[in-house]
Amino acid sequence: MTNHLFDLIRARIADPARPFIETAEGEVLTYADMLARSARYAGAFAALGVTPGDRVALQVEKSVEAVFAYLGAVRAGAVFLPLNTAYTPAEIGYFLGDAEPKIFVCDPAQHAALAPIARGAGVAQVLTLDGAGQGTLRVAADGAAPQFTDAERGADDLAALLYTSGTTGRSKGAMLTHGNLASNAATLVEHWRFSADDVLIHALPIFHTHGLFVAINVTLLAGASMIFLPKFDARQVLALMGRASVLMGVPTFYTRLLSLPGLTREASAGMRLFISGSAPLLAETHRAWQDATGHAILERYGMTETNMITSNPHDGTRVPGTVGMPLPGVSVKVTDPDTGRELIAGAIGMIEVKGPNVFSGYWRMPEKTAAELREGWFVTGDLGQIDLDGRVQIVGRGKDLVITGGFNVYPKEIETEIDAIDGVVESAVIGVPHADFGEGVTAVVVMSDGATLTEADVQAALAPKLAKFKLPKRVLFVEELPRNAMGKVQKNLLRDRFGDIYK
Ligand code: ATP
Ligand code: MG
Repeated sequence: MTNHLFDLIRARIADPARPFIETAEGEVLTYADMLARSARYAGAFAALGVTPGDRVALQVEKSVEAVFAYLGAVRAGAVFLPLNTAYTPAEIGYFLGDAEPKIFVCDPAQHAALAPIARGAGVAQVLTLDGAGQGTLRVAADGAAPQFTDAERGADDLAALLYTSGTTGRSKGAMLTHGNLASNAATLVEHWRFSADDVLIHALPIFHTHGLFVAINVTLLAGASMIFLPKFDARQVLALMGRASVLMGVPTFYTRLLSLPGLTREASAGMRLFISGSAPLLAETHRAWQDATGHAILERYGMTETNMITSNPHDGTRVPGTVGMPLPGVSVKVTDPDTGRELIAGAIGMIEVKGPNVFSGYWRMPEKTAAELREGWFVTGDLGQIDLDGRVQIVGRGKDLVITGGFNVYPKEIETEIDAIDGVVESAVIGVPHADFGEGVTAVVVMSDGATLTEADVQAALAPKLAKFKLPKRVLFVEELPRNAMGKVQKNLLRDRFGDIYK
C-alpha cells in the first residue's frame, strides 16, 4: 500500500525516539508517539465509517490531539478540513453544507449549538475535542489500535480541503493533493536548511496553511521538533528563544516582539532563522528587527491555493520589502491582467504561479477554477513585479487596486510614504466610491501615542513625494486597523466603514 504524503513522513523518521512535539506544559511526544497516535485517529475515523475521499471537518482549539487527528485523517485516506475557530455557527453551516463532510468535530462547549446545524448539512457523525485534547473523538482514538494500514492514496488524490482566509470575499475551498503538500514541504526543508536539530516555536493557528502545512509538515519532513504553544504570547515566545532555533510568524508577531525591551541580540543568539509570511512585512519592521537582534527576517510568500511560492534566500541577501525568488520547481510570471500576456521584468501585473505546489481547483466551483487555473498557471489575484535578478515584489491585491480618474494607484506605494511620516504607526490606502473620479484615494492612518497629526499634515507631507492623482483625497485616523487571525488587514471592512465619505 502507498499513501503518498504519509509514506514520505514515515520515510524521514531516522530515530523514532526523537522528540516531535513539546507542549507548553513540558510534555514531550516522540516520533514513535506520533506514529501510534495518528494510527489511533486513523483507526477511529475508519471505524466511524470514513472511507478514502471522505471529508473530515474540524473546528477545534489548537491542541496536540488535533495534530494527530490531521495525520490520522491523511492515513485513513480522508480529506482533512480544518475550520477557523472564529467562524460563527451560521458560517459553519455554510462550510459544512458546501463540503459535505462525513464527520464534524467541534469543541464540546459548542456541541449543543453546532450538532443540529451539522446534521442539517447532512453530516453523519458529530464528535468533540477540546483545547486540552479531550472529547468523544479522543475517546474513540484511545479505543483504536496503535497500528493502522494506511489507505492507498496517490500524489493526485486529495489530502485536504482548505478554505481561504476570506480577506477579499467569501472563503473558497482549495483542493490540495498529497503531491501538493509533500512536494512543497520537502522543498522548504531544503531551502530553509531544516534538520533534525531544529526546534521550531509553533505559535500559529493550525486551521491555516501557515501553521498547519508549512510549520507542521516541514517539522515532520526534517525530523525536527516543535514547541507547541496554544497561541502567540510575545513574552512566552521571547523566553523560549533560548532553547529554540526557528520561529515562523505573521508580521504582527514581529511587531509585538519588537515592543518588548528584552528583545536583544543575547536573547535571540541561539536562534538561526526567523521566517515571516501570510501578510506583508513592512521594510521598517525588517530593519528594526535586524537592529534589535542582528537577524534578517526571511520573508516568504504563499497562499492557501499554492502552498509556498517564493522565498528570500537562506544564504544570500534577504531584501526588505521583497518576498524573494520562486522556490525550486515553482515558476512565477507577471502578466497583463487584461490580456494574460507575460510582461517584462520590472513591470507591474498579475502574479501567476505554476508547479507541483499548485492546487487542483476550487471545491465545487468549476467556473472559477477554469477562470483562475489556466493551463496549469494559477492566477493569484496578487499584483507584483519581478526584478531583473528574479526577486518578486508584491504591490497588493488586484481587488485593492484603486482606479481614480482612469489612473491605477497601487496602495502599497502610498502606504509606504505615509508610514515614513513621523508619528505614523501604520496605514491602509483604499479606494472609496467617488462621483467624479470613480474611486477616491483614501488613507486610513494609525498614529503613535502622543502624536498630533492632522489630515492636512499628512497631505502636506505627501504632496512633494507623489503625483497629484495618487494623493489621498481624505485622510482618516483610527485607533487600529481591522485584522483577521492571520494578521491580514481587512480592507473590505474599511471600504464598508468609509464607503460614503464622498457622498
Ligand atoms: P481570500 O482568498 O479568501 O480573499 P486570502 O487570500 O487572504 O483570502 P490566504 O490564502 O490565507 O487567503 O492568503 C494568501 C494571500 O496572503 C496572498 O494572496 C497574498 O495576498 C497574501 N500574502 C501571503 N504572504 C505574503 C507576503 N509575504 N507579503 C504580502 N502578501 C502576502
Ligand atoms: Mg486569496
